Amino acid sequence: MAIVIDGKAVSRDIREELKRDALRLKQEKGVVPGLAVVLIGEDPASRVYIRHKENACAEAGFLSRTIRLPTAATQQVLLALIQSLNNDGQIHGILVQLPLPGHISVDTVMEAIDPRKDVDGFHPTNIGRLFSGNPWHRACTPAGIIELLDRSAIGIEGKEAVIVGRSNIVGKPLALMLLARHATVTICHTRTRNLAEVTRRAELLFAAAGRPEMIRADMIRDGAVVIDVGINRLADGRLVGDVAFEECAAKAAFITPVPGGVGPMTIAMLLKNTLQAAGYRNRTS
Ligand code: NDP
Repeated sequence: MAIVIDGKAVSRDIREELKRDALRLKQEKGVVPGLAVVLIGEDPASRVYIRHKENACAEAGFLSRTIRLPTAATQQVLLALIQSLNNDGQIHGILVQLPLPGHISVDTVMEAIDPRKDVDGFHPTNIGRLFSGNPWHRACTPAGIIELLDRSAIGIEGKEAVIVGRSNIVGKPLALMLLARHATVTICHTRTRNLAEVTRRAELLFAAAGRPEMIRADMIRDGAVVIDVGINRLADGRLVGDVAFEECAAKAAFITPVPGGVGPMTIAMLLKNTLQAAGYRNRTS
């Protein structure tokens, strides 16, 4: 039976450490890390995420500022807001909550954020720096996954790692992070032939497809580490991952639950990036 990795507990530990670090930064340099979150429209899921971010900031002693714009806000208005946040000395991290309404270009908005304040790690500069092995801000969900492995004493170097999903926010950056840690990495997607054959090779298997319980026991290898990134709401209201938990837990060595696995790590990494941005700004200013 697999060891269940408790992402909630790990996230809590990290947020406690960040709270101490933030206090030290304040005492030594008079800097309070500040995160600005911009929300456009009324997406209910986004509102929930933002509330969690505000609470996490408050608990860790960070300044948080939420700016709400109506759905009809123009791209020009949003870009002007980002510009003012780029120039705001109290704000070290800027996060524009996705998804954006259709009339606004995600790429243009991401590129407008000062890369030093891009705590989501989505700016082309941050993606490029990750690519070349000299990262600044790393995308929060994959960075959280690496942290979860490290804090569970699960080795990465030399391991056969398979990722199901190639999105810009999870699959691709995760592949680069695993490669930087010397794993042998395979990325799967909807055109992958014989998916189960590939996933069965994995010592480290990452499911990030957004397909409820698509990873079954016969797709994993005995003793695998199974990390479930998926968050899927079923018609009956239940929240499940991309992994059929019970049957895979019987075969894996380690497994993450949904909820309570990867999910809580994302906010912890957001705060970590913001703290680093605050330290960075202070060193150079
Ligand atoms: P996307 O929809 O952007 O990407 C999904 C990827 O999975 C695509 O590359 C797609 O392939 C691939 N895929 C889909 N179905 C299959 C299949 N049957 N077989 C093989 N590959 C498949 O999703 P995201 O990366 O944004 O998110 C993935 C999941 O992770 C979602 O459930 C999301 O809610 C969750 N998530 C969780 C976070 C957290 O904090 N824990 C944060 C972000 C996301 P193709 O490219 O060919 O279409």
